[in-house]
Amino acid sequence: MKILKVDHIGIAVNNIEEVKKLYSEILGIPHLGSETVAEQKVTTAFFPVGESEIELLESTAPDGPIAKFIESRGQGIQHIALRVDNIEEALEELKAKGVRLIDEKPRKGAGGAKIAFLHPKSTFGVLVELSQR
Ligand code: ZN
Repeated sequence: MKILKVDHIGIAVNNIEEVKKLYSEILGIPHLGSETVAEQKVTTAFFPVGESEIELLESTAPDGPIAKFIESRGQGIQHIALRVDNIEEALEELKAKGVRLIDEKPRKGAGGAKIAFLHPKSTFGVLVELSQR
């Protein structure tokens, strides 16, 4: 398993359009695009910063994971995504090392990436996403 970089930082927000102003107009980061991932009940908007991106996440349904996150913890950083060279291999290796996984198998993320989440109970409270593109 090789961790290549911080792929993106996921930030849960109530309204992307509203928060977009901060990142694009005030901070001057170009808006790379938005995408709705129906199976995860989320719309994402990407803002590239150097080698990484800021990913805004807005729930598309009241029972979606982002809606639930905001309900219990408020808006803010929801996850950190690490780019790996081989996600299947990484999951196997981490499982063997005793790390609790939310996803045993990769699922489809925004931008055609393969993603999988590690359980925050195994990562000291941080929701870590592995991503391979
Ligand atoms: Zn993400």
